Amino acid sequence: AKSRGRNGYQFYAPDMDGEGVLRLRMEALLRRAIERGEIFLHYQPQVDIESGRLIGVEALVRWTNPELGSVSPVRFIPMAEETGFINQIGEWVLLEACRQMGRWDEAGLVVPKMAVNLSVRQVERGAMAPQVARVLAETSLAPHRLQLEVTESVIMNTGDALAFVHELHAMGVGLAIDDFGTGYSSLAYLKQLPVDVLKIDRSFIKDIALDSDDEAIAIAIIQLGKSMHLSVIAEGVETEEQAAFLLRHGCTRAQGYLYGRPVAPGELLQEWGQDERR
Ligand code: C2E
Ligand code: CA
Ligand code: CA
Ligand code: CA
Repeated sequence: AKSRGRNGYQFYAPDMDGEGVLRLRMEALLRRAIERGEIFLHYQPQVDIESGRLIGVEALVRWTNPELGSVSPVRFIPMAEETGFINQIGEWVLLEACRQMGRWDEAGLVVPKMAVNLSVRQVERGAMAPQVARVLAETSLAPHRLQLEVTESVIMNTGDALAFVHELHAMGVGLAIDDFGTGYSSLAYLKQLPVDVLKIDRSFIKDIALDSDDEAIAIAIIQLGKSMHLSVIAEGVETEEQAAFLLRHGCTRAQGYLYGRPVAPGELLQEWGQDERR
């Protein structure tokens, strides 16, 4: 069968629908994206709710390709994970994010912490701790200014995760559990790990004031963080009402459109460089 891809090219692929063709094309383009300079990072502020101060940023990867336009990481990260290419992307992201801290330092903006997402594939491969050490050495970034974000499933389903997490801790690098509450970590297991931060998933934040179940979950996570001496940050905070709710229940840190979207490094400098309290 002849099908016409979204990009306008003709394909002859009897057993592939348009989506399959686009996927293959995308995979091929993704493999060359780094060398072609199509991959870059945006940074989203994390703030202290009460003071409005910048406490850190999260690095979020972006891909813009001449043929495909801008492709969401929700789309290309899983693809990169399947093909294993996530290891190259992840290594590039880590190095670039740590380098960026040096550039901001020089420009007079002190961003206290850089949070970088790690994929399960990167941790599985078992070479992550030396990679982190190498990047820190190369960029002269103080280890406590780096925080790695992993989801619960990375911790729970990766054989080597335990060793990795302890190595990170020994280096002084922070560890955040991303999308907390959406997986099923055993609390008994979590308790043994040198975790520093729980990130409350956006799905529990978005219906605050609308859904009392979500409110109860958010409160439970905040309490859990307190009793385990972890800091808790809420992701996806979009309204003053959500921020007030969090503060009322003892969560003092947030990230979300209310405080700023992910932006290019220059824009972050403009926004936060003069007066970090805006
Ligand atoms: P995540 O780690 O949970 O990142 C938070 C996502 O929520 C980001 O989407 C961010 O732009 C979005 N977000 C932040 N605040 C708000 C808000 O107030 N409202 C709404 N609606 N959304 C908000 P993004 O940048 O599209 O990234 C999506 C996911 O892709 C990330 O989810 C993460 O799982 C993955 N990802 C992004 N960058 C990387 C990376 O460098 N490495 C890896 N392994 N995964 C990455
Ligand atoms: Ca994250
Ligand atoms: Ca998250
Ligand atoms: Ca999330």
